[in-house]
Amino acid sequence: MTKTGTGTKLIAALLAGGAPLALAQQAPPAPMPAPPDTKIETVNLAPGIYMLIGRGGNIGVTVGRDGAAIIDDQFADMVPKIRAAVALLSETPVKFVINTHLHGDHTGGNDAFGAAGAVIIAHDNVRKRLGSDQVNPSTQQPIKARAREALPVVTFADSASLHFNDDTLEFTHLPNAHTETDIVVRFRRANIVHMGDLFTGGFPFIDGNTGGTLDGYILAHEKVLATIDDDTKVIRGHGPLGNKAELQAYHDMLVVVRDRIAKLVKSRKTQEEVLAARPTKEFEEKYGGANFNAGQWIGRAYVDQKRALEMRRRK
Ligand SMILES: [Zn+2]
Repeated sequence: MTKTGTGTKLIAALLAGGAPLALAQQAPPAPMPAPPDTKIETVNLAPGIYMLIGRGGNIGVTVGRDGAAIIDDQFADMVPKIRAAVALLSETPVKFVINTHLHGDHTGGNDAFGAAGAVIIAHDNVRKRLGSDQVNPSTQQPIKARAREALPVVTFADSASLHFNDDTLEFTHLPNAHTETDIVVRFRRANIVHMGDLFTGGFPFIDGNTGGTLDGYILAHEKVLATIDDDTKVIRGHGPLGNKAELQAYHDMLVVVRDRIAKLVKSRKTQEEVLAARPTKEFEEKYGGANFNAGQWIGRAYVDQKRALEMRRRK
């Protein structure tokens, strides 16, 4: 089956389903049951700095004379494997856990690491959302607050730094992008950034239920691109290690798609018409992948652009 065929089929399925708005606002997919043979692959990025690829979001690791710290911790059932992988690199257990955002495939190990004494660091909104009972705005399903041990104990609004293992890890909040809880982590000396889910192998997931917007996503890229260079190693939330040129290309693609959607919204097209126009057309082969769900992020972007236009018209 060609990619074009897949895209057309998906859009047909979306239209037949008649619920693109619901799709646009759905929560991130629930974790799949762990295959017993999920292995962790350890990739060395610089002296003392690694990327762990397992199940869930990619993990950044720093080890050295101050101990070990990790960026994101996948799912609860991956914790023994994460610990074993870190133990091969560090004699001491994990001292700090940094969460790039609130999603369960990046924070699922918090309970275990927090209970074992690691200090969890994240944006204020991670603690706010994970620490209180929530209701999914799309499905009205209750979402229980996470256990006390799973909550970040050090939080910040805009930025913070961790001076660790002879490097400075800079945490910068990027508002309303993938969610309203996103940060990027930059190793100043080693010239490495961990983008969380602001950069993945495929089209973005924009979690409107937790404050994500396509405009914010694009602004986040612009902010990061201004601070990195051609030698920067860019850790994706999911997918292989990336670089500045790939992030730039990804950003440029989002701008093209966003501008097309904005134009269609301005000419009063409905969400169904926007989806049927396939504003992602020539990018589907590169970023579409097997799980391409046009309704999710195009639908989300449609809702955002429409709201923005209505606000401009009201002024
Ligand atoms: Zn995510």
